[in-house]
Amino acid sequence: MSASSSGWTRWQWPVRIGGLLVAMTLTLTACQYSGTPSPTTRGGASGSTGTTQVHQPNGPGKGESGPGRPATNPGNSNGPKAADTPPPRKDYSLGRGPNLTARVALTFDDCPRSVAEERQVLSGAAELGIGLMLFPTGACIRSGHFDADFARSEGHYVFNHSNTHPQLTKLSYDGVLSQLAPPGVQSRYGRPPFGDWNNTVARAYAAKGMRMWLWTVDTNDWHGYAQDRIVKYVNRTAKAGDTVLMHMQWNAFSVDALRQMQAGLAKRGLEVCRNSGTTTPERSWTVYC
Ligand SMILES: [Zn+2]
Repeated sequence: MSASSSGWTRWQWPVRIGGLLVAMTLTLTACQYSGTPSPTTRGGASGSTGTTQVHQPNGPGKGESGPGRPATNPGNSNGPKAADTPPPRKDYSLGRGPNLTARVALTFDDCPRSVAEERQVLSGAAELGIGLMLFPTGACIRSGHFDADFARSEGHYVFNHSNTHPQLTKLSYDGVLSQLAPPGVQSRYGRPPFGDWNNTVARAYAAKGMRMWLWTVDTNDWHGYAQDRIVKYVNRTAKAGDTVLMHMQWNAFSVDALRQMQAGLAKRGLEVCRNSGTTTPERSWTVYC
């Protein structure tokens, strides 16, 4: 649904400014969500409820999933559109996003070093039965370093991460909107660069019919840490339902690292998000984990 295709609905939208809870009435389009957790800067996981609710609405249960890739995603290729609804607001948190399961979401931002590396890692992840959440920039897609169609064909999800990776909090409302426009990925979920957002950013996301999805575990891989260090940190730190932040141009973006995370987390009784087969390029609220 585009932002202009529906009527106007008024929402009560609590926004915290300077520690005060101020009730604002905003006019948003009907297909948008109401209520956004408190804005922050560089907070990453702020807004996460920290709940460990286990809810597995989709896909096969534990024991039915193994390595290897199913041919299609049963609910996400030709399924009825009526089923595609936003996750209930009460269950949604900035940190965990739409992942309502106990599985750990492995997410990678920005841009791979080459499209060949992207293909190698994403195919390898699919062979391991892992479904990744990918947030490439529009500039990355335009540069030819990231093939979104290929990523979806391998059963991964591709979400918006702005066009040129600015701090969105320094832009005007229109400036934020242009950062969320093509060639940036047009998706229901997006991750503002650096995790920086404010009320203006939140309004722009809402106007695009999008929700923010940040993270709950920050690997700080951009420091250039060795693959082994990142893997050990994830395997030691991640909890049920966590969202792990990594970057495609850094050292954990490798099949070997993913294999070690999958195995290491399994030793602690944790699964990573499964690969449920081809994802749709259409904007969808539905994310299988
Ligand atoms: Zn980024």
